[in-house]
Amino acid sequence: MAGKSVGPELMGKKSAPAKDDSDIIRPLRKHGNLIVITGPSGVGKGTVVQRLLDTVPKLTRSVSVTTRARRPSEISGVDYFFHTQAEFDQMVADGMFMEFAEFAGNNYGTPSSWVMQEVKAGRDVILEIEVQGAKQIKEKFPSAVLIFLSPPSFEALRSRLKGRATEEPIKMALRLRKARQEMRERWLFHYEVINDKVDEAVKNLTNIVYAERCRIRDNEANSPKNEHNKNS
Ligand code: ADP
Ligand code: 5GP
Repeated sequence: MAGKSVGPELMGKKSAPAKDDSDIIRPLRKHGNLIVITGPSGVGKGTVVQRLLDTVPKLTRSVSVTTRARRPSEISGVDYFFHTQAEFDQMVADGMFMEFAEFAGNNYGTPSSWVMQEVKAGRDVILEIEVQGAKQIKEKFPSAVLIFLSPPSFEALRSRLKGRATEEPIKMALRLRKARQEMRERWLFHYEVINDKVDEAVKNLTNIVYAERCRIRDNEANSPKNEHNKNS
């Protein structure tokens, strides 16, 4: 035992009264994660996100505001909040969005207040958004988890968009052109998940969501540099 110091207990001295350990033991993570799932239109973002929401607890999805016309299958307030261009512009002026972007002739934005409320309540929130908006989130929220969903091939992407049949040919061509640009920017994100088989993609996404719940971040709330943590 040479060189090892002996604690007061072993020397027969009384140890200092036990300090309340609750501060040390408490989990470091209090808040949920902001999770961005981005990638080209038609890659399957909506499909895999729905599967995640059905299977992973404490996970929710933000409902965006858009100026796009509602598709027959869509429900207002569930798939999107549908607004006029003037209303959208007013929301931008009022600073209501945490990110917003124009995509293929329409505007889309993520309302901040609900998202922040959910994250503070400890739930993970998925933003299913295009690349320009994802880049804004990366800039403003360094702790956000950024996932790029890729198609297995360009042909597969084309056939999925065609199969979904929600856009007229000109708009579909515009979305495919946009997809090429977006694919070039995927290196900006933390993860690339390839949506070949849906089950496989959902498994990988689930693993990412759970792993990110365990990550220790060097952010304000957790760091010993934070006043609250100095004595813990
Ligand atoms: P996004 O939300 O990215 O625009 P969707 O989820 O609407 O894409 O998917 C586009 C189309 O592709 C839908 O018809 C969907 O059923 C189909 N799809 C999604 N994932 C796959 C996949 N892995 N294999 C084949 N088809 C898929
Ligand atoms: P769609 O018209 O097919 O519903 O959506 C077109 C694109 O806009 C998709 O890539 C979709 O993920 C994206 N999008 C949906 N909501 C938002 C949002 O709030 N912000 C941004 N930046 N993109 C969004």
